[in-house]
Amino acid sequence: GYEGILRRQSLRESAARTYARSLPIVPVRARGLTIEGADGRRYLDCLSGAGTLALGHNHPVVLEAIKKVIDSGAPLHVLDLATPVKDAFTTELFATLPGPLADDARIQFCGPAGTDAVEAALKLVRTATGRSGLLAFTGAYHGMTAGALDASGGAPDVRVTRLPYPQDYRCPFGVGGERGAELGARWTENLLDDPKSGTGTPAAMILEPVQGEGGVIPAPDAWMRRMRRITEERGIPLIADEVQTGVGRTGAFWAVEHSGVVPDVMVMSKAIGGSLPLAVVVYKSTLDAWEPGAHAGTFRGNQLAMAAGAATLAYVRENRLAERAATLGARMLGALQGLAAAHPCIGDVRGRGLMIGVELVDPEAERPRASDPVGDAVPPPAPALAAAVQQACLERGLIVELGGRYSSVVRLLPPLTLTDEQAGAVLDRFADALAAAER
Ligand code: PMP
Repeated sequence: GYEGILRRQSLRESAARTYARSLPIVPVRARGLTIEGADGRRYLDCLSGAGTLALGHNHPVVLEAIKKVIDSGAPLHVLDLATPVKDAFTTELFATLPGPLADDARIQFCGPAGTDAVEAALKLVRTATGRSGLLAFTGAYHGMTAGALDASGGAPDVRVTRLPYPQDYRCPFGVGGERGAELGARWTENLLDDPKSGTGTPAAMILEPVQGEGGVIPAPDAWMRRMRRITEERGIPLIADEVQTGVGRTGAFWAVEHSGVVPDVMVMSKAIGGSLPLAVVVYKSTLDAWEPGAHAGTFRGNQLAMAAGAATLAYVRENRLAERAATLGARMLGALQGLAAAHPCIGDVRGRGLMIGVELVDPEAERPRASDPVGDAVPPPAPALAAAVQQACLERGLIVELGGRYSSVVRLLPPLTLTDEQAGAVLDRFADALAAAER
């Protein structure tokens, strides 16, 4: 039975599993926002495979596209040969690209995961520039393979210069807002232009237009444009990691569109495969420095993923789901801000489109920087409360993920197909869970 499945998996699987521990669910059926467990309970899934399910679970157009490939007798796995399915996917994807990139793009199909595409992007810029250093940001998350880890944090193998990612809340410069972003930009320029800083001219800058795992932190548009100018002036390729932010999630098809920034390289995965594994790098043709065979990988030809992905991209475009994410997301943010006004344990509510974060804090604790002359000190993060809220949500049939530098941010990543009514149910359950966890 269901208890047996949970027990056996917890014995057999590695200790590295995270949300499987706090979400003891055995899903057996799913549709749209809803997951049904083996125990018959139903849950509203606002984790969506960490933002993968742009159309929710088992959307009919996705299932239809998969069935069509199977019924056609087409090969399901063909490495990187050209096929009609791949052609349709690439055409659909290129139609979504920001103008100047669409006119002159190349695509590299990578291994199945986002982290594979990050590796390929890093290798590409290093090959193209002949340089190795990298500019990356505090709080970044780019994946779990070695190069992607270098870009994310920890002890890098290559020279990574870590720059402050702009934050309103917990701004590293203690000022937040435009001023904080401006100071971060100047910090970046100073490092690059100081011959003694050791930064030199790196192979690339990699950034997330909205940090996801880092705690749902949207970069201001002006800061994005500033990063574009800084990199352009110095001949440094800009890599936008849109693995989590892409395909309408933030209220634009690609999150870089909010600022009008056109990166040199875009890393894409998650939603582009319509719930099946697919990852690509799209880049300006001038960077196409690969020799034949320079980048390989067995699983780069998953036809089902390409078909499911093409159907998803087309559905998001035709039904203007990015715009829908923008309006519905703004409404949900507003409602959560209202909730924050009544609950001092909500330190911050932020996000863009349907990528939403609620940061929980301990309002009673002594402010760690109370004597800070800048005076912006904020209460300390409350990871235990965040975990309690996640559990209380689960008990009320709502699945949410935690994230952020201190695991104190509750993240909501509902499908873009969310209805007004469903959004209301999600918010009600969340409010109820928060009140219960606070007690
Ligand atoms: N980049 C970003 C921005 C991500 O959010 C993630 C995954 N959460 C990755 C890269 C890595 O993708 P994957 O887990 O598929 O390797």
